[in-house]
Amino acid sequence: MENEAYWILSSEGKNYEKLKKDITTECLIVGGGIPGITTAYLLSKKGVKVTVVDAGKICGGCSGRNTGKVTSQHNIIYSKIKSEYNLKKAKSYYEANNKALNLMESIIKENNIDCSFERLPAYTFTESDDYIKDIEDEFEVCKAIGIDCEYHKSLPLPLNIKAAISFNKQAQFNPKKYIDALAEIVIKQGGEIYENTTIKDVDKRKLNKITSEDGYVIYAYNLVIASHHPFYDGMSFYFARLEPERSYIIAMNKTKDFPKGMFINVESPSRTLRSYEGDGENLLLVGGEKHRVGKGDEDKNYYDILESYAKEKFGEDEVKYKWSAQDWLSTDHIPYIGYINAEFDNIYVATGFSKWGMTNGTVAAMIISDLITSGDDEFKETFTPSRSKSYLSKEFIKQNVNVAVEYISGMLRCGDKEVSIENGEMKIVRIKGVDYGAFKDENGKLFIVNIKCTHLGCELRWNNCERSWDCPCHGSRFDYMGNVLEGPAINPLKSYGEGPNKVEPNIL
Ligand SMILES: Cc1cc2nc3c(=O)[nH]c(=O)nc-3n(C[C@H](O)[C@H](O)[C@H](O)COP(=O)(O)OP(=O)(O)OC[C@H]3O[C@@H](n4cnc5c(N)ncnc54)[C@H](O)[C@@H]3O)c2cc1C
Repeated sequence: MENEAYWILSSEGKNYEKLKKDITTECLIVGGGIPGITTAYLLSKKGVKVTVVDAGKICGGCSGRNTGKVTSQHNIIYSKIKSEYNLKKAKSYYEANNKALNLMESIIKENNIDCSFERLPAYTFTESDDYIKDIEDEFEVCKAIGIDCEYHKSLPLPLNIKAAISFNKQAQFNPKKYIDALAEIVIKQGGEIYENTTIKDVDKRKLNKITSEDGYVIYAYNLVIASHHPFYDGMSFYFARLEPERSYIIAMNKTKDFPKGMFINVESPSRTLRSYEGDGENLLLVGGEKHRVGKGDEDKNYYDILESYAKEKFGEDEVKYKWSAQDWLSTDHIPYIGYINAEFDNIYVATGFSKWGMTNGTVAAMIISDLITSGDDEFKETFTPSRSKSYLSKEFIKQNVNVAVEYISGMLRCGDKEVSIENGEMKIVRIKGVDYGAFKDENGKLFIVNIKCTHLGCELRWNNCERSWDCPCHGSRFDYMGNVLEGPAINPLKSYGEGPNKVEPNIL
């Protein structure tokens, strides 16, 4: 079984051409995930001339590889925002996400989008005594905000539930079908979309000059960076304010009853559950085993762990699909949405959705489209990337110390001199003082790549589950041949004999 998300397989989506000419547009949106396509939808609906470019396919990134929960319940978050800031900020975060959920439902109804959107309760639970207090605190803050929520001491799940909180009238859907449909509407509303078009350079001006990898120039009055990790930093240090976290999902043939609802636990190991019915499929999705990118356990097969868990707890036995994805966590649980920094008034960013990008990505589209068309939005202060806490928190400092340590340890690490490698095996080899990652595929073909990350030069770590090279500093990922799988890196890894990797941070 190939590791591919069910959502991606379930909806092919239209193919859009690669950009092969210079163009001028009112608004260029880089990234065709949920924030990018929803921004394009809202702006083109208001008559703004928009152009979307994506390095791969529309919704081919994290937006097509998640669990498809559309909810303002984001695990334990409201009590955290309240203690980091105050109740007002937590309420504003809720109201933005709740508005986004309602907006998504109205877009789906208005355009008859067939994406299995279904209103259901969302539950956050714990099976550990240690987390009962966290759930109780969260419940108190949610009630103070005015959220339609309930406290539970048990749930209709075959688990040893100690405490849970539910939000009523949340939703689940098929994200790929939703985003593919929105992209088609963008075209009907006069927008343009280009796929397989990677943006490399930004020259910030009144009319921004943006250049693709192939050298084509896009002039745009407004630039929206919705590339998951911002491909352009504008001297705003996003690479140091975002932490990449990876999780794994299996979809099993569902043969037993599963309660109507979406579930997630608080403790470790993480577990997230939902069912899906559509297109002749009847699936139980089981996700979890989250870890920081590049910090997973090479000896663990996360899919096998999830499969054993699902068999033991839910009695299902056939895994039909499996996939993994990573998302960017912000330092204070709130995404970075708005002007890329306080000095720039025509470059916007949307990132740091902390694994809740369906509603938060829609919030990003609401805020950015309002800022572009009217210069104002009711939620702009809550999500502004220029808020001081996102730079100065203890987490920020800890994370950057962490990055520095990774960088140094990467430089000092000594590789294995043995070059005897079995099929399907990876070994680090040191050749003339440089560490390379050597991987032999099933046909015995050997790939030897330089494992210095092309983003900022950290040493990459092998991810045996996905056969990829993952960066523990900023989350870039490469396949065993050296191709970029996920940014912020933009250059591939060079093979042995091709010289050193081209390290390009794209900060300026
Ligand atoms: C395992 C997992 C489960 C999740 N489950 C949920 C859930 O149930 N509910 C929820 O709300 N959220 C969930 N999330 C989070 C959610 O999926 C993400 O927050 C969201 O999809 C991020 O959207 P994005 O557009 O920023 O990124 P992406 O969807 O990755 O889109 C970014 C796009 O930018 C393009 N791009 C990048 N660089 C360039 C460049 N230089 N030039 C051109 N294009 C570029 C990429 O090709 C990509 O298509 C989950 C996340 C994970 C990891």
